[in-house]
Order: sequence, then C-alpha cells, then structure tokens
Amino acid sequence: MKIAVFSTKAFDRQFLEAATSDKQHDLIFFDPHLNKDTAILAADFPVVCIFVNDQADAATLEVLASRGTKLLALRCAGFNNVDLKAAAELGISVVRVPAYSPEAVAEYTIAMILTLNRKLYRAYNRVREGNFSLDGLMGFNLHGRTVGIIGTGRIGAIVTQILKGFGCNLLVYDVYRNPEIEALGIKYVGLSEIFTKSDIISLHCPLTSETHHLIDADAIDQMKSGVMLINTSRGALINAKAVTRGLKSGKIGSLGLDVYEKESDLFFEDLSGTIIQDDVFLRLTTFPNVLITGHQAFFTEEALRNIAETTITNITEFEQTGDSKNLIK
Ligand code: NAD
Repeated sequence: MKIAVFSTKAFDRQFLEAATSDKQHDLIFFDPHLNKDTAILAADFPVVCIFVNDQADAATLEVLASRGTKLLALRCAGFNNVDLKAAAELGISVVRVPAYSPEAVAEYTIAMILTLNRKLYRAYNRVREGNFSLDGLMGFNLHGRTVGIIGTGRIGAIVTQILKGFGCNLLVYDVYRNPEIEALGIKYVGLSEIFTKSDIISLHCPLTSETHHLIDADAIDQMKSGVMLINTSRGALINAKAVTRGLKSGKIGSLGLDVYEKESDLFFEDLSGTIIQDDVFLRLTTFPNVLITGHQAFFTEEALRNIAETTITNITEFEQTGDSKNLIK
C-alpha cells in the first residue's frame, strides 16, 4: 500500500524502511506535521502514518477522506490527537501501537527521578567548569520514601515494580486495579491520599477529558512541601502555570518533565538560535530544580524497532482483512 509518513525524522525512516525490507509497501516520507494545511500532501495515499504531535482533527480528516485515505496508522500508543468520532464518520480506520516498549518509558522515568534527586545535571556542568563544590547538590535516599503512581497500566506497573526494588513505599491510583500490582501487596488509594502522602508523584495515565490538568492548583495545595513531580505521560495532565506557582513558592521541590502541553510547537525540532515565544515554557526552564527533556522517554532502539514493525503489521493486516488487532474501536 502507498503510505504517507508525516513528521519524519531520520530514525523513523531507518526503522520503517527496515520493517518493509520486503518492499511490500511503498513508503513516502514527509517532514511536516500533519494538519489541515499539510493533509493535501497525502492525496491518493490510502494510508497515512502519524506521530504524537500530528493533528488528526476533524478538518484534517475531512481533507484526508476526500482524497482517498482509508487508514490512519499511529506510530505511538496515545491517540489524544485524533478525533475518533470524525474518523469513524468519514470512514477512516485508526490503528496504533499499544505497547511498543513500556520498559523504555519506565526506565526513563526512573532516570529522571534519580537525575533530579541527586542533581546529576548540575554536577555534570559544574565538573566541566572545574567546580567540585557540593553546595546545593544534596539529595535524599529513595529507600523508605513514599512514591505515588497515578495510572498502573503497562508503564506505571513497571515503574511501581522498579521502585519497590529501591525500597520505596508505593501508593497507587487508577480507575481500574491491576492484579499484578495487588499481587505485590501494593495498596490502591484515592487521589487525595496520593497527593497528601507522597514524596514523589509520577504520572502514567492517558490524557482524557477527566485527566486534563489533573495536577492543578488545588492538587498542588494538597501535596507535601518539597514534593517531586514527574510527568513522562502527556503534557496537559499538568497545568504548567499552577506548577510554576508551586515551584516559586517552594511547595514543589523538583519537577521532571518529558512532555509539555504545548510541545507540538517545540519538541523534536532543533530551535537553537531562534527566539522561543512560549513564556510559560521558558519560565519553567529557568528553575534550578526543573529537568525538562523533549519527549524522549520512548527513544530506545528496542522501542523504535517495535513501533516500526507493529505499524507495518497493522497496515498489512488492514490491507488483507480490513481489520487489525490494534484497531482503535
Ligand atoms: P496503559 O493504557 O497501559 O495504562 C494507562 C493506565 O491509566 C490504565 O491502567 C488506565 O486504567 C489508567 N487510567 C485511565 N484513566 C485514568 C484516570 N482518570 N486516572 C488514573 N488512571 C487512569 O498506557 P501505558 O502504555 O502505561 O502509557 C501511559 C501513558 O504514557 C500513555 O497514555 C502515553 O500518554 C504516555 N507515553 C509517553 C511516552 C513518552 O515517550 N514520554 C511514550 C509512551 C507512552
């Protein structure tokens, strides 16, 4: 099938081409994000392949449908950027990669916790400048600390298991209970207990209308003073302005973000030398206790291989049967 791949980076091309080495599909790579203005690039492509910051809203999907697109293949797990109702009405099926490597994101979450807590990012820069002072680098033992995990699906469950190995006390919250977590003797509690008792809070739930700005001023007010907040899930789970106020007051002791609500204007691009216009984002980058990375938690060799292979399998299945086990219903 002819596949239009949007938001292409060199790594996408490398892994997708390897996954179609039998030349079963015809891949055409486009650099721009998909949106209503770029959708015309996919004219006469039955399959359009997109990533996290492409916009498959109703207006975009209308252009795609009018030019013959039948399948939208997401090379990610989250589908908050797709108007599923519009897709269904327009006869466009949507497939995704539900679990390409939860370990990649879970391990990255732990890396963020350790880096922030032990201030490795500051130590690295200091030593390069010949500054070996320890002032301001003190952390705390993870052993014995209380960590609140919000969302105990694939990624959250692995984070929970790893932190149990560190000797942390785990409190978990989810709308569904995961028996694997309960088997570890870990307690499901209410959200307010997570907020009031945790030294570290890590977010692993999807972005939905219920979880949008889950971390707002009211949630932050309930938290322990000096709490560490980690978000490797989706940017809009956090109200960035409320978090900035929490950092300024000292209520939030440290913040690790791999995702940001308005990241589509920033992440995955080299913007060095340009003037970034997002003042909320820039304010966050000025705090010494904030670590921000540009949506790289998924970025391992294993994950990229898995994403490419599953995406191609989804497309082949759809071509052969009109269905796929990874169809979003
Ligand atoms: P998953 O579907 O396996 O787990 C999500 C869990 O969240 C489920 O257990 C679900 O019941 C729970 N949940 C749903 N609504 C909730 C709510 N209102 N409150 C609390 N919990 C709720 O998903 P996953 O594979 O573990 O991924 C989690 C999130 O991580 C994804 O939604 C995605 O946004 C994000 N992610 C980020 C990256 C990255 O590179 N930073 C990569 C992959 C996934």
